Amino acid sequence: MDLGITQKVAPLIAAVREMVTDEIAPLSDEYFAQVGKTGNRFEYTPRMTEILEGLKAEARKRGLWNFWLTDSARGYGLSTVEYAYLAEEMGKTPLGPEVFNCSAPDTGNMEVLERYGNAEHKERWLTPLLEGKIRSAYLMTEPDVASSDATNMAMSCVRDGDEYILNGEKWWASGAGDPRCAIYITMVKTGDETDPKHKRHSMILVPADTKGVKVLRAMEVYGHDDAPHGHMHIRFSDVRVPVENLLLGEGRGFEISQGRLGPGRIHHCMRALGHAEAALELMCKRALSREAFGRKIAHLGANYDIIAECRMEIEQARLLCLKTAWIMDQGDARAAAPWISQIKVVAPRVALKVVDEAVQMFGGQGISQDTPLAASWTHLRTLRLADGPDAVHRRQIARIELRKHTNERI
Ligand SMILES: Cc1cc2nc3c(=O)[nH]c(=O)nc-3n(C[C@H](O)[C@H](O)[C@H](O)COP(=O)(O)OP(=O)(O)OC[C@H]3O[C@@H](n4cnc5c(N)ncnc54)[C@H](O)[C@@H]3O)c2cc1C
Repeated sequence: MDLGITQKVAPLIAAVREMVTDEIAPLSDEYFAQVGKTGNRFEYTPRMTEILEGLKAEARKRGLWNFWLTDSARGYGLSTVEYAYLAEEMGKTPLGPEVFNCSAPDTGNMEVLERYGNAEHKERWLTPLLEGKIRSAYLMTEPDVASSDATNMAMSCVRDGDEYILNGEKWWASGAGDPRCAIYITMVKTGDETDPKHKRHSMILVPADTKGVKVLRAMEVYGHDDAPHGHMHIRFSDVRVPVENLLLGEGRGFEISQGRLGPGRIHHCMRALGHAEAALELMCKRALSREAFGRKIAHLGANYDIIAECRMEIEQARLLCLKTAWIMDQGDARAAAPWISQIKVVAPRVALKVVDEAVQMFGGQGISQDTPLAASWTHLRTLRLADGPDAVHRRQIARIELRKHTNERI
């Protein structure tokens, strides 16, 4: 299918696909087998660094770098539709996105620094992020409040002369386990109940090595710590940062989170389709290579139907993803919002189903460490929460639908 594949992006898709298949995927098992070999799962062994940095250097050499940059003066200036095809390819293997410097949460964080950072922030944080020298985390979610409603965030941030003092806890800070993670974009509460609900919060830059920042533990995803990336639980005790670290101004946190929700909002969805395609391929190869009851697994039971359903659902999800990307490219964020909500529900759900069917076709090996399927399943399952719970997106979709038929406040 080449809907929206332009002459500009076609060779990039081919180049990324080739590098993912021939160079990144073959090193993935070795890379992850190294995790923890130093005794600390959140530390890189020399071989891990060699693999990752070697692949990154190769990607840069080939000009396959920072595709997400929409600014054509510095990047390729790709549309969201064009980027969708690349993200899908990168999503086919776990190291893929980082090798091309297109991984979460860095792309969203770089977008924030680019739009709202001052010259010093850009020099200190954006430049090394663009070069893949450091990593970053986005800290919004808190253990003590329902974080699907961002207006609940309670981390205190009080001005004291030229500094702000932060106190509270954040958790599920993805990427904060990585020793290269140098900067946290942190959502804090600077206002109070007298301010309008969406003007009480701010975003502030907190260097990870600031005094008073303590990583308490790695949150586990179905028993797995996702090292060396990690989803960390972090306590802030009288953490002092200069007032200049506040982005945009007090009470403007929601403005920034809306900005952060640019094209990056659907990058997860695009990559999820890559997971689904990779799983379908594995499923088909397995079904054609293994026999039970005297026949290839493909020919048994309802397996033809299962494979056909998976193919059809992937195609449907991809079309919705491309339509959403296209609407985003038209520049009307309001018009795009309901479509973004829809694809955020559909893409992880479809990909999760396809991966689950592939797991089943693999038998016991499917849930083991011997295929990428188990890790893919847990990742996709978490997306149904991490990218905003499904229920919240469905509520948005339903409200828009209902409003067409009533003047009541919905
Ligand atoms: C692997 C992983 C990585 C993550 N990475 C990050 C990160 O990097 N940075 C970060 O800040 N956060 C991150 N998160 C946190 C994630 O964004 C939150 O878990 C999510 O926003 C939900 O917040 P909560 O866990 O407090 O659930 P709650 O707000 O307590 O919600 C619980 C449930 O209530 C239901 N619900 C809530 N609202 C509605 C509604 N409007 N309608 C119907 N039902 C509703 C839903 O079923 C929802 O799942 C990550 C989470 C995971 C699992």
